[in-house]
Amino acid sequence: MQVIVLGTLALDTIETVYGRRENILGGSAVFAACAACYLAPTGIIGIVGSDFPEAAWRLLASLEIDTTGIRTCPGRTFHWEGRYRENMMDRDTLCTELGVFAQHQAVAPEQYRGAECLVLGNISPVQQLAVLDSMQEPEFVVADTMNFYIQGERSALEQLIPRCDLFVVNDEEARMLTDETSLTGAARRLLERGPGAVVIKRGEHGASLHTREDTFYVPAVPLEIVRDPTGAGDAFLGGLAGYVARSGRVTPDILRQALVVGSALASFAVEDSSVERLVGLDRRELLERCTAIRMLTGFSSIEI
Ligand code: AMP
Repeated sequence: MQVIVLGTLALDTIETVYGRRENILGGSAVFAACAACYLAPTGIIGIVGSDFPEAAWRLLASLEIDTTGIRTCPGRTFHWEGRYRENMMDRDTLCTELGVFAQHQAVAPEQYRGAECLVLGNISPVQQLAVLDSMQEPEFVVADTMNFYIQGERSALEQLIPRCDLFVVNDEEARMLTDETSLTGAARRLLERGPGAVVIKRGEHGASLHTREDTFYVPAVPLEIVRDPTGAGDAFLGGLAGYVARSGRVTPDILRQALVVGSALASFAVEDSSVERLVGLDRRELLERCTAIRMLTGFSSIEI
């Protein structure tokens, strides 16, 4: 299956305990595509300004990511500034400048419309719906969202949720969307709205998959050093969708494996700034990390 990723292409300024990096390549579509491309042919739908650096185009080309769905317009590329607290989990958004994004009317270009796997990364749910409507009949639609859109564009988001095969949120967003305190309760409420499955990302505590029949947990890879957590959620999403696309079908077992692959790719994303660690990753490293996750959770049967 081909993977098409909708989301932001951004120039981020990030502050962590390790220092400040200005205008580095980021955005939900970039992180997701840089993860998905290891598993399946991947294309991006998005928009950038005339300041989008030549090196970023080269980087996407080096990963064989199809960029024909990225429009370039006069003006500035989407810019996000964030500062991480000392625990490297909580962060404050210091500024979000939409730039050319404000004028983006996203639709899938002709050559992407038949793609089987659609990743609706973090972006306005109005745009997520417009792209979904412009596709022919994707077999696997996965969408992510964030507090920014839960607060600002709730009704479009509520229209999107039932149309997803898999709806992905983090713990805080799951609670915001459902007013439940328990995440198991929140997952059940979200499933009642009609998506095929729900994933709740729990930061360094991993992620859980919820369907009507099944619940599954995957831990996050325990890392001693996290240099920059930006993009972990997007890399998780792209990796998960890429694995489903590579498998060519969606079964309960493949969804479980996809969560493991997403978790492995997210762990690479946070080991360095921007997509630096994702670029140049080889399949062997990826497979080793998936095996490490398996070792973390596997045990023989217990007799009492
Ligand atoms: P994550 O850490 O997975 O939440 O993703 C962070 C990335 O999302 C950064 O590279 C940002 O450029 C991008 N981003 C931040 N705010 C938004 C927003 N409101 N809409 C879409 N993308 C955003």
